[in-house]
Amino acid sequence: MPELPEVETIRRDLLPLVRGRTVLEAWVSPDAPRLVQSPSCEEFCRALAGRRIEDLQRRGKLLLFVLDGGRTWAVHLRMTGQLLHRRGPCHGERYLRAAFRLDDGSWLCFVDVRKFGAMWLVGDMGAVAGELGPEPLDPGFSPGALQRILERRSAPVKAVLLDQKAIAGIGNIYADEALFVARINPKQPANSLSLTQARRLHGAIRQVLTEALADRGSSFRDYVDAAGREGTHQFKVSVFRRTGQPCYRCGSPVQRVKVAGRSTHFCPNCQPLGKASASGPLAGRGHARQARG
Ligand SMILES: [Zn+2]
Repeated sequence: MPELPEVETIRRDLLPLVRGRTVLEAWVSPDAPRLVQSPSCEEFCRALAGRRIEDLQRRGKLLLFVLDGGRTWAVHLRMTGQLLHRRGPCHGERYLRAAFRLDDGSWLCFVDVRKFGAMWLVGDMGAVAGELGPEPLDPGFSPGALQRILERRSAPVKAVLLDQKAIAGIGNIYADEALFVARINPKQPANSLSLTQARRLHGAIRQVLTEALADRGSSFRDYVDAAGREGTHQFKVSVFRRTGQPCYRCGSPVQRVKVAGRSTHFCPNCQPLGKASASGPLAGRGHARQARG
């Protein structure tokens, strides 16, 4: 699923191509009945036609086209959604679910194999983005702000990182990567992190997101940018989908476990479970590895 670096890459690419352009025509495929969440599909297409795109913003993993007249067209790519900018019509796209003709003859083509993608047309941006937590790359997102988010939750720290209402934009790839960089076990309860660990995690989140953004995102499966190009950060990950391969830091095999229902990759030697969770079932193993490390 595209996360903050991937969605931000698309936003940056698309902004100069769509700002000031008017949507002449909007079409949604009848085979994607759940794509438009609100309003009805007919109303969405009718209301979008003739609107000028004033700005393109991002909030978490949402793309927000700010339209004249005060409404916002929100797009969530979810698992396999792709928003492609084409110089001509979207013909020939195999999994085309929606198409938008702009007044310069270019098109936005929404391609989505799995059909989990979602769009909204809302009067108030808060209706789709209001519940999202802070942006991790915002200057105002301080180590203290992260600490306050973590101390309220007893769930595994990985689960809190994935919770869009806690922090916006982080998904499975960058949660695993940030926890590895910060040397924190994904199962450690969020409220048991020390201030030092919270600071380290804050720095790690910003580091992995910034590096991935510089690499124009990670293309493990379906992600491509607005021009259809893959990112390159998948070649630089430390633990994500490297199960059984040696940790770059210590050589131990990277392990995969389930945390919060998601495949989670980590190095048990570099990321031992700390004392704070000594009562947990993995505490003994965590300490043993810690001693070895
Ligand atoms: Zn290691």
